[in-house]
Amino acid sequence: MQILENYDLTKLNTFGIKAEAKYFTEINKEEDIPSLFESEQFKNNERLFLGGGSNVLFTKDFDGIVILNKIKGIEVINESKEDVWIKAYGGEIWHDLVSFSVGHEYWGIENLSWVPGTVGAAPMQNIGAYGAELKDTLVSVEAYDISNGEKVIFQNNECKLGYRDSIFKNVAKGKYFISAIVLKLSKVEKKNITYRALKDYFEKNNINPETIKDISDAVIEIRKSKLPDPKIIGNAGSFFKNVFVEKKELDILLEKYPELPYFEEENVFKIPAGWLIEECGPARSTISWKGYRVGNVGVHDKQALVLVNHGGATGEEIKDLALQIIDSVKQKFGLILNPEVNFV
Ligand SMILES: Cc1cc2nc3c(=O)[nH]c(=O)nc-3n(C[C@H](O)[C@H](O)[C@H](O)COP(=O)(O)OP(=O)(O)OC[C@H]3O[C@@H](n4cnc5c(N)ncnc54)[C@H](O)[C@@H]3O)c2cc1C
Repeated sequence: MQILENYDLTKLNTFGIKAEAKYFTEINKEEDIPSLFESEQFKNNERLFLGGGSNVLFTKDFDGIVILNKIKGIEVINESKEDVWIKAYGGEIWHDLVSFSVGHEYWGIENLSWVPGTVGAAPMQNIGAYGAELKDTLVSVEAYDISNGEKVIFQNNECKLGYRDSIFKNVAKGKYFISAIVLKLSKVEKKNITYRALKDYFEKNNINPETIKDISDAVIEIRKSKLPDPKIIGNAGSFFKNVFVEKKELDILLEKYPELPYFEEENVFKIPAGWLIEECGPARSTISWKGYRVGNVGVHDKQALVLVNHGGATGEEIKDLALQIIDSVKQKFGLILNPEVNFV
């Protein structure tokens, strides 16, 4: 394990923001962890574990040690007639784990096809898409306690997985390195195709999804058509979380904005943040944020939830745009948008 200094992180974050880490190292096997934790650079500095860099915004250089997680491996650790337990190491690419599961017809994460990033970051915000969330299949998380190097196992309920949230993103932020996860997938067909965009896709294309691959392929195609590819334009997917309100608040909003879209989820109501952003715009103007550009940063023209780096943007510029958007939504609707992306 080599620790490098003043390391350029531009290629390690999908926003493509230029930032440097004071120290940088890559870990390729679990046995590297004790020596990493023992190193002076680790003990005496702030630490940041990085996977695919698809959910971070560097607002400045990182004055500590960045550890790129490349610990790979996928193994079946238990099996019954109906289910299979899979252990995947944190440095695996999430979609490679999905492909493995789809290839073996293990049901449960096919709707999460093509979500960028690594397995180790997936519990951080309980990744979710197309009607599935990590929490539906997660059994446990293996993590190292950064304060003492001890290995800890968190069961699903201990991770407090919620909408784009977990203890690792809030109360335990920065306290653990997630080294592996265990999922329980089904060997028995379990189609989950009620999510509106997926249903519409099958109807429109006259497809009767028969196999797990049909579902995975559909999700990939929808995602590719809707979301900008970070290889072409820097972004971190949805920058903001959707907003949840109680019935009382929803009714007040609907009186003023009858066209407001909402979805009921367990007695609370989800309002798509993308719609709210589209309905607002820069101060003292009548234009919408959607497709807006200022200097090197902007809001994607097809998806208002996605902020983009047109090239050469700084993290501060993206942050400034995000704050303006938050302010405009608050002014117009009285609702607070919360970023999904992790600011560093
Ligand atoms: C085009 C695009 C589409 C996206 N679509 C979705 C989507 O549909 N659903 C969704 O939920 N997300 C989506 N995202 C966000 C992103 O894919 C997920 O949040 C993903 O889990 C991030 O993985 P990563 O490895 O890139 O994490 P990183 O960006 O590297 O890290 C994210 C956070 O997790 C921490 N972290 C990373 N690895 C570890 C570890 N092993 N231990 C402890 N902490 C760690 C980091 O310190 C950081 O705070 C999208 C992003 C993009 C760019």
